[in-house]
Amino acid sequence: MSQHSSIHWFRQDLRCNDNPALYAATQAGPVLPLYHQEENVPSTDQIGGAGQVWLHQSLSALNTNLDNKLCLTKGLIESILPKLAEQYHIKSVYWNHCSEPWRIKQDAQLKQTLEANGISVHIHNGSYLWSASEINKDDGTPYRVFTPFYRKGCLNATSPRKPLPDASQSAWINAATEGCTLDDLCLIPKQNWHKPMLKGWNPGEKGALQQLNQFTENGIHHYKEGRNFPSQPYVSRLSPHLHWGELSPNQAWHAVEEKAAAKDIDHFRSELGWREFSAYLLHHNPNLQHTNLQSKFDRFPWNENPEHLTAWQRGKTGIPIVDAGMRELYQTGYMHNRVRMIVGSFLVKNLRLHWKHGEAWFRDCLLDADHANNSASWQWIAGCGADAAPYFRIFNPISQGNKFDADGTYTRRFVPELSHLPNAFLFNPWEAPALVLQEAGVALGETYPHPIVDLKQSREEALAAFTSLKDQAK
Ligand code: FAD
Repeated sequence: MSQHSSIHWFRQDLRCNDNPALYAATQAGPVLPLYHQEENVPSTDQIGGAGQVWLHQSLSALNTNLDNKLCLTKGLIESILPKLAEQYHIKSVYWNHCSEPWRIKQDAQLKQTLEANGISVHIHNGSYLWSASEINKDDGTPYRVFTPFYRKGCLNATSPRKPLPDASQSAWINAATEGCTLDDLCLIPKQNWHKPMLKGWNPGEKGALQQLNQFTENGIHHYKEGRNFPSQPYVSRLSPHLHWGELSPNQAWHAVEEKAAAKDIDHFRSELGWREFSAYLLHHNPNLQHTNLQSKFDRFPWNENPEHLTAWQRGKTGIPIVDAGMRELYQTGYMHNRVRMIVGSFLVKNLRLHWKHGEAWFRDCLLDADHANNSASWQWIAGCGADAAPYFRIFNPISQGNKFDADGTYTRRFVPELSHLPNAFLFNPWEAPALVLQEAGVALGETYPHPIVDLKQSREEALAAFTSLKDQAK
C-alpha cells in the first residue's frame, strides 16, 4: 500500500464533485472512503425521521458513485479510525468541517488523538462559501445583522472559490467488507410512510445536479418575485441537497452566473448568504438551538398547551394556510419558505407556544433539517434572534393566503376538504355564510376544524405579552 494512503471521512459532504477534503486526499494517493454512523450524538442533534430516510438513499447513491467501495461503520469513531488506519497503513485522514457544536468538539479531540498516533489530519471547508472566522466587523467583533454581514463582510471578502473537479474516478482502497451494510444503519422506517414522502425527490449527487440544472434553466428567471408564491415552481428546492452536501454552495453560487437578470441572481445568492449567516450565528453562539439570543425573551410568558401543539403539528388548526403548510411538511418532508414563516408566526405568536416546539418538530419532519438554519430561523420568527423579525410583526394567515396563494392552488392541494370553497372564503371559512359552506360540502367542526384560536384576539394577547417584557425591562 502506498505511503500516501488516506481516509476520507464523509459526513455532510456526500458528493465527489467540488469536495475540497476528498479532492485533496485523492491528490495525495489512494483513498479509503468512509461513512460512519455516530454513537453518543446529543439528543437534539440526532437525525430526524425524514432526514434518516434521505440519508439512506444518499449513501446508496454515493456508494454507487464510488464503485461500491464506500466503507460503512457504526460505533465510536475514535476507535474506528485508528483501527482502519493501522489495518490499511493510512497516513492521513481528511474531512470537511461541520458547523454543529458537538461535531466541532469531537473533531478537536479526534485530531489530537490521531496526530498523537502519527496520523495527519486535514480539515477543509466544504460546506460554506466563507469560513465564519474570516468575516468580522472593522472593529474585529462579529456581525449581528444580516445585511452588513453579507454585503459588507462576505461580498468584500475573497470571492467563493470555483468548484473543484470530480474525484469519483480516483483510486479507492476497498475496505467495504470491513464495515456493516447500509441496512445495518437502520435508517429506513419499518412502516412504509417514507415512500410517498420521497416522491418528487431524487436524493444523491446526481439528483442534486439535475435539480440545480432544472433551477438554472427555469426557476432562476423568476426567482426574486416568484420565490414568494408556494404554488409556483420558482424556488430551487436544493435545501436537502445542500444540507447533506450532495451539492456545495459554491456549485450553486457559480451555476447561476449569467443565467438570469442580475436581480434574480443577486437574490438567490443572498439566500445562500442567509445560510452562511445561520452558520455564522451558530459559530458565535454555540447554544443557538437552546438559548434565546436576546435574553429578555427568557422571561416571555409562553403558553403550555399540548392540544394546540398537536393540532399545529397535524395541520388541524382550522386556519387553512397554516394547515396546508403543516400537511405539506408531513407529507413531503418540505415546506415552502413563505409558508414556514406563516406557520412559525402562528405557533409562536397566535398560539404563543415556545419556538423550541417548532424547532423540534421541523427537525424531525424536514428533509433539509439543519441545526444552524433551523435554530436561526426559529429564533428569527420568534423575534428573539440576532437580526430577527420584530415581535410585533405578526403574520396574518388570511391576508398572507390572499396575497401569496390568491387562486388557492396551494391551500386546496393540501387541504382538499376545502377545495370547493370559493376563493373569498378559502382562507377564513369560519366567516363564510352557511349556504356557501353547505354548497362547498364543508361542515365546520366535522369535515374541517373550527379555528383553535381567534386570530384577532390572540394577536392582541401576543402583543400584550411582548409589551409586558418591555415594561419589565424598564
Ligand atoms: P431557495 O429559495 O431556492 O434558496 C436556496 C438555498 O438558500 C436554500 O436551499 C437554503 O440552503 C438557503 N436558504 C434559503 N432561505 C434561507 C433562510 N431563510 N435561512 C437559511 N438558509 C436559507 N432551511 C434549511 O435548509 N433547513 C432548515 O432546517 C430550515 N428551517 C427553517 C425553519 C423556519 C421556521 C424557517 C422560517 C425557515 C427555515 N429554513 C430552513 C430556511 C428556508 O425556509 C429553506 O432553506 C428554504 O425554504 C428551502 O427551500 P429552497 O431550497 O427551495 O430555497
